Amino acid sequence: MDPAIQKMIHGFRHFRKTYFSDSTELYSRLRHGQMPAALMIACCDSRVDPAHVTRSNPGEMFVIRNVANLVPPYHPDSTFHGVSSAIEYAVCVLEVKHIIVLGHSGCGGIHTLMSEEWHNHPSEFLTRWLTLAEPARHRVKERLGDRPEELQLRACEESSILLSMENLMTFPWIRERVEAGNLKIHGWYFNLHEGELYDYDSEKEEFLPLAGESDSL
Ligand SMILES: [Zn+2]
Repeated sequence: MDPAIQKMIHGFRHFRKTYFSDSTELYSRLRHGQMPAALMIACCDSRVDPAHVTRSNPGEMFVIRNVANLVPPYHPDSTFHGVSSAIEYAVCVLEVKHIIVLGHSGCGGIHTLMSEEWHNHPSEFLTRWLTLAEPARHRVKERLGDRPEELQLRACEESSILLSMENLMTFPWIRERVEAGNLKIHGWYFNLHEGELYDYDSEKEEFLPLAGESDSL
């Protein structure tokens, strides 16, 4: 068997022992349904698993992952809306109290979006998907177009988080809940180069470290 698959099976055995043999309480409860407090919208990138990064337990977080953690604007029509339907379920059925958009450093999706090449060599699905983040790219190019590439990439990673937050507010049932104080939208940025998590401060209009010193729990 492929060692990668073997490792997953080994991992599942460990998981089963933890949650179904040693400690059965959690899944005895979760068997009856889920009540996650938060919806996390994260990138597909294998290095930024939201449950892993935040050490969350099963049942605590409803997760949507897609390339570059993007949220499309509210647009009810006859096409298949995977992201919007998952958002609808989390907000209207599960009634989550928080929506967190989790972006990250070294995002391949944002890198593709920012490279000049991608317009010339469109891919079958990815190019179209990334056009969702075009306003973020435009903002960065306008403001920082003459600055080093690395700085532009980080700015676009952050800007795309803000764009997803703005797009969330175009959903009427999200706006309603936010305005009533029943739902809060957060923008987080995980810098995997420095091992730091940032939170967008809307008053200061910048991302600030969220977790404090590494040894303070
Ligand atoms: Zn990414």
